[in-house]
Amino acid sequence: MKLFKVFALITLSITVSSVVYADDLTAIVGGRIIDGNGGTPINDGVILIEGDRIKAVGKDGGITIPEGTKIIDADGMTIMPGLIDVHVHFDILGHADYNHWFATYEDRMRSDILPSAAKAMLNAGVTSVRDLGADVSNIFWIRDQINSGQMIGPRTFIAGPFLRKTVTAFVSETYKDTWPIESPEDAREKVRKLKSMGVDVIKTQDEALSEAELAAIYDEAHKQGLRVASHIYSADGIKTALKAGMGPYDTIEHIGDGEAPEYDSEILDLILQNQVAMAPTIIALDGLAQIIDNPELTDDPRWKRDLPADIYADVRRSYRNADLSAHPLYKRATTDRPGRMAKLRQLADAGAVFAVSSDSGTRGNPHHDALWKEMVLLQEATGKTNMEILIAATKTNAIILNQLENLGTLETGKFADIILIDGDPLAYLSDMRRVRHVIKGGKVIR
Ligand SMILES: [Zn+2]
Repeated sequence: MKLFKVFALITLSITVSSVVYADDLTAIVGGRIIDGNGGTPINDGVILIEGDRIKAVGKDGGITIPEGTKIIDADGMTIMPGLIDVHVHFDILGHADYNHWFATYEDRMRSDILPSAAKAMLNAGVTSVRDLGADVSNIFWIRDQINSGQMIGPRTFIAGPFLRKTVTAFVSETYKDTWPIESPEDAREKVRKLKSMGVDVIKTQDEALSEAELAAIYDEAHKQGLRVASHIYSADGIKTALKAGMGPYDTIEHIGDGEAPEYDSEILDLILQNQVAMAPTIIALDGLAQIIDNPELTDDPRWKRDLPADIYADVRRSYRNADLSAHPLYKRATTDRPGRMAKLRQLADAGAVFAVSSDSGTRGNPHHDALWKEMVLLQEATGKTNMEILIAATKTNAIILNQLENLGTLETGKFADIILIDGDPLAYLSDMRRVRHVIKGGKVIR
């Protein structure tokens, strides 16, 4: 092993060129590259970064590293594309009571809560996210702050408000996270309005929307070049949405009424024919059950790291001082779990596309832990290999964002969004929690 390392250093010194000046160059040297395409990993790899893009990917000795290039030593680590989470919420931080949360913290969203979520996700190696439902003004604000480089956070894509039949309880005069849909015509008008405001995706949230209203949303969104993410639990709701016109890489978020029998062939056929992606957010329910059973999970130092002490204390208290085992979601999380997992296996065996989608920020589901836990749970549910799960969290999610030309794999010309894992996720998928370095757009974040 030691000899091998010496050899690598020698080949590196031979290929150093003194001709090109390298002010804007960074090289990640050593380590094992998993590029996101599913091929054989590259041992002793090199990734050369110029500015915010990848300039070359290859084996140590095969790529010229100009003199003056900044070197990041990745020896013993795994080098991967930055993770992508296609379902997050910036405006909640895992507190048990949403009514209390929105009533108490509306005026601290921009100062404390949204930046805290952004930092926690990026530190966990999540370099791109899709927020699926939030107050209109705040979510545009945080997206533009981050994407313009004024605030630290993952590349941010947003849905804006939930499209629902009825408004959520959290809507106030100033905090508008829902736009109610009154008719198919109204649905089309609201999708066009959201497109003109600059959203990246459309989110439908309740199952009370009629098939005609859903059809109008899907059709208009697709005409506007937008994908749709639909929050659906029940088999009937899934069937209605599929018949209403869900398209390729639109996502069914959550999935899985645990009490119902397995899906019928009509649902499976529609999912496969239309290439609709499953985004089951397993951790959203598992995380809630875990924290109700083990409230000390809120003592994790990462939870409080970027959060004012009073807000952290409030989150912690929301689980310590309350018996939440009667919460309606607790039964869904626990008793209904085997049926839900069986149906996810049925979908996987049938060949459905799976996204990695954590719903981070929801009760008991903090941003610092959500995505790697969802990856492990998705493997439990579907039986996929470690490599297949890594591809789902990178390349597949980049396709869902419509960003494969920029994100999702380590290839020349793409954004240098790269993470270094202190471990081997092909052997132990849970090593995804051990993110050592995060590079976003060529900048070393941690
Ligand atoms: Zn959600």
